[in-house]
Amino acid sequence: MAQLKHHLLREIAIDLCEREANRHFINITSLPSIEMFILAGKEPSRVFRRIVEDYVTITFLTFDTVHMTYCALKTVYTFHYPHRFKWEKYGWKLDCVYLNNLFIKWARKLKASEWLYASPRLGYLKVMTENNDLEELCLEEDRFNFWATIFKAFPKLGVVRTSACDFASMLLAASTELTFLKVVELNGTGTLDVAYKALYDHQSKCPNLETIQYRAKWLEEICFPKSTVVPSIKHIRVTVRYGRCCTPWNFSFLTVFQKAFPSLESVEIVAHKRCCCYTGGQNVTQKLTTMDEFYQAFQSLHFGFTIKIIFREIMLFLEGEELLNNVVHPFFISKGQFFGEPERFTVKTSYPGKQVIYEGDIRLHIYDDGNFFVDFDDF
Ligand SMILES: [Zn+2]
Repeated sequence: MAQLKHHLLREIAIDLCEREANRHFINITSLPSIEMFILAGKEPSRVFRRIVEDYVTITFLTFDTVHMTYCALKTVYTFHYPHRFKWEKYGWKLDCVYLNNLFIKWARKLKASEWLYASPRLGYLKVMTENNDLEELCLEEDRFNFWATIFKAFPKLGVVRTSACDFASMLLAASTELTFLKVVELNGTGTLDVAYKALYDHQSKCPNLETIQYRAKWLEEICFPKSTVVPSIKHIRVTVRYGRCCTPWNFSFLTVFQKAFPSLESVEIVAHKRCCCYTGGQNVTQKLTTMDEFYQAFQSLHFGFTIKIIFREIMLFLEGEELLNNVVHPFFISKGQFFGEPERFTVKTSYPGKQVIYEGDIRLHIYDDGNFFVDFDDF
């Protein structure tokens, strides 16, 4: 096995992990195939270490217990959303001390809260807090008070996921520059102004922070104090979960971003909608008029940064009649590159520096399970 080329070894290791991750169990005693792979030689061990660095997140620790998740598709997102329940089903909890220690040493991603410092640092907790190479930290606690200890234990943090309030306390607690910090993902709507104010006041502490991701209820809520700018920020990504359905988009938030972040290179908006406006037999052509206005308004936007909107929508209709006389499908075919079926499709519309990806899902109201957000993973 040691003679196999690096990329083949990596494929084998990913395949082994996928098999274990696809069994959907939460508590397993061992990963024998993975253990054999690691013990097969220096190169397989090195390859597997890289996979742990990229795809494993330590999600819970005590001195003698470890929970972790493996996900090769995307970063595991673990805030207070349905994803949390979705992903926890895929957790690994191993009995093998040798493997657990390796995973904790090699992991670069940690989801933590007060438990990290609530008990004496023994066993696995000790190994974790000695992992100086940790790069990503997701904090679930609000009012987290251990920032100074975190910075000392994990000096190379490049990605921090935390609430807007804790981001402010994090910047306040930082006594030196957080030179590795490049991405901040904020949770906690309604307090974005708190995070922005803290970032503005302490921007010298995070000179390389380039990307901010956060969730908003409404795009209209985005506003910052006048005449305050944060020049380091180059990329913004906002997920909108609510917002008003079937009303024209107000793109004034882009002007707000332009003023607050003069070096901005890209803005990405991910909007989720669940449209129930037509379950009372109303004429759906009204909706198409609003969508048409959306495309026209988007086309006329001119900013110095790229704009991408991913618009995911479930449309619910009461009667099968609307589905039989599906006017939504021909409307969207005319809007760009169309992929998929008349009831479940993606339309890509591109203009210079701008793109809209519309993902439509047309359902009868009676067959809707209401489980809209569970299928989506944004980050
Ligand atoms: Zn609607």
